[in-house]
Amino acid sequence: MLILLLLLGSWAGWFYYQWLQQPRPASEVIAAAAERQEFIPFLQPLFDARSGRLMGAEVLLRWQHPRDGLLSPFAFIEAVEKSGQMGRITRQLMQDVTTALAPQAARLPDGFHLAFNLDAGQLDDPCLLDDCRRLMAAFPADKLVLTLELTEREAFGSDGHFEVFSALQAQGIQLAIDDFGTGQSSLAYLHQLAIDTLKIDRAFVDAIGRDSLGKVVLDAIIALGKQLNLKLVAEGVETEAQRDYLVAAGVDFLQGYLLARPMPLAGFIAQLPE
Ligand code: C2E
Ligand code: CA
Ligand code: CA
Ligand code: CA
Repeated sequence: MLILLLLLGSWAGWFYYQWLQQPRPASEVIAAAAERQEFIPFLQPLFDARSGRLMGAEVLLRWQHPRDGLLSPFAFIEAVEKSGQMGRITRQLMQDVTTALAPQAARLPDGFHLAFNLDAGQLDDPCLLDDCRRLMAAFPADKLVLTLELTEREAFGSDGHFEVFSALQAQGIQLAIDDFGTGQSSLAYLHQLAIDTLKIDRAFVDAIGRDSLGKVVLDAIIALGKQLNLKLVAEGVETEAQRDYLVAAGVDFLQGYLLARPMPLAGFIAQLPE
């Protein structure tokens, strides 16, 4: 009897070991990481181009991986999108930023632009509007301009999205097109969807000082933004020559390593004026 039990035990143990060795599906790994709160926000400051003053921040997702360290979204964002858990992770980011930043609201300039990245699928998330409302309600009125950044790489602009956009805008939430110029720009939707901001992709900022097609596109985007009365944000500003050019061209906000790198919440708060 004892021998039988021992045999049964080691057999079960072997199967359990084999099961543990199996590679887990990505969606399970991501859900477990979200559960352990390994997805954290980094904030990259945004500056007013002319005055050089801090005017906002973009929230950028990081994975604080227990073994591999701090991971950039490039390494995992596709897996997260496929896993269908982007909404849950964005909600966590919004909560973390709110908890840390709302008590410091007095140290932020009025009209502080706080930007989150969304993928188009999240526009269909029925919780999005409430998540945004909750975030804004935690700050004094007129303190925050909440901006949602959407890339053109995904198709959006369906009738359903049109309604979501109006509902968001009715709450005073602004919409920005991210990486503008790199996707299949339908200029019609800029107008139709009442977009507030164009974010000029780093590739075009990088073209400054070079005799390239990129530079032609950059100038065209700036001209377009001004014609349509949109706010212009340049991302990936790395050199003084780039900054000077963008300021002279009348871009509104600057973001890039020259001015400030993405940083953890605590670091962002530490550099705010007292
Ligand atoms: P993005 O929205 O275009 O964000 C700008 C990226 O450029 C960030 O990379 C930022 O760290 C980087 N960057 C900023 N300034 C400079 C610079 O001067 N030079 C260079 N070389 N890079 C600069 P990051 O944080 O690795 O994010 C990569 C992309 O992942 C983002 O591109 C965005 O599309 C996506 N992403 C980030 N966070 C989220 C999120 O919460 N949700 C979703 N859906 N996507 C996110
Ligand atoms: Ca962005
Ligand atoms: Ca961008
Ligand atoms: Ca970009």
